[in-house]
Amino acid sequence: MFDALTEKLSGVFDRLGGRGVLSEKDVDEALREVRVALLDADVALPVARDFIAKAKERAAGEAVVRSVRPADQVVKIVYDGLIETLGGEEPVPLNLAAAPPAVILMAGLQGSGKTTTAAKLALRISKTERKKVMMASLDTRRPAAMEQLALLGQQAEVDTLPIVAGQSAPDIARRAMSAAKLAGYDVLILDTAGRTTLDEAMMAEAAEIARISQPTETLLVADSLTGQDAVRTAKAFHERLPLTGLILTRADGDGRGGAALSMRAVTGLPIKFLGAGEKIDALDVFDARRVAGRILG
Ligand code: GDP
Repeated sequence: MFDALTEKLSGVFDRLGGRGVLSEKDVDEALREVRVALLDADVALPVARDFIAKAKERAAGEAVVRSVRPADQVVKIVYDGLIETLGGEEPVPLNLAAAPPAVILMAGLQGSGKTTTAAKLALRISKTERKKVMMASLDTRRPAAMEQLALLGQQAEVDTLPIVAGQSAPDIARRAMSAAKLAGYDVLILDTAGRTTLDEAMMAEAAEIARISQPTETLLVADSLTGQDAVRTAKAFHERLPLTGLILTRADGDGRGGAALSMRAVTGLPIKFLGAGEKIDALDVFDARRVAGRILG
């Protein structure tokens, strides 16, 4: 997802490294090129601006031009800046601390990969954390979505709430919670209905489900291929829902990486996972340090 950015940044650093002794003007010029590379990768303008302002401050504070290996120092400053922009060094684990079942609410636009990601999470939590997981689809408008979740549940070997036609989404949420409680499930993943565009009815329904189910995690699934639209979507959802984190899908695609780089700074929310393929086990914990390392090649 970051290939083009990686290539541009390595070009900047190669030119800088080739110079040996650096002046402040050289460092400024390199950081200007880093800014252009970030914007080309579709990073939000205020995020790129802030990134460069901080990098300049650090370069001045650490007296880069007088250091032994100034070009390496600049690379280190960019690396640290990327980690900070991506949300810090340590991955943020899922919060499942609640009287069982801990509820995870999945939100997002239709087509973002929400249902697939619900199943990927269910698989991860049941296999790696050895917890008993149930999933339920609240998409009352699209029976196919409910069936899709049931199928994915079979693949993940995770139970899904039996489908009962004609129930409202809040009713299904209540039924899922009592069923999960009665049968001793540790975690309940609720897959809310998606729409193709942001609309008030979808937001109001998701907000009501959040009130009813009191999730410990409310995760927005956003498609990284949609770039700045994904960031706008996350912002709009966060204004209506108490989101606790983000999952970016299609990190295996040829997106430019701007969404991943802007999300945290624009929304203040941690990216918790990256969807990295269609397969049900293609979900990576988001690790800012690893991603920053990958960007720098
Ligand atoms: P929903 O409408 O948001 O629930 O989206 P779906 O879960 O039905 O996913 C839509 C399509 O995107 C499906 O074909 C998924 O297999 C695919 N998909 C989901 N996540 C990823 C991902 O991380 N990478 C890739 N390449 N495809 C994905």
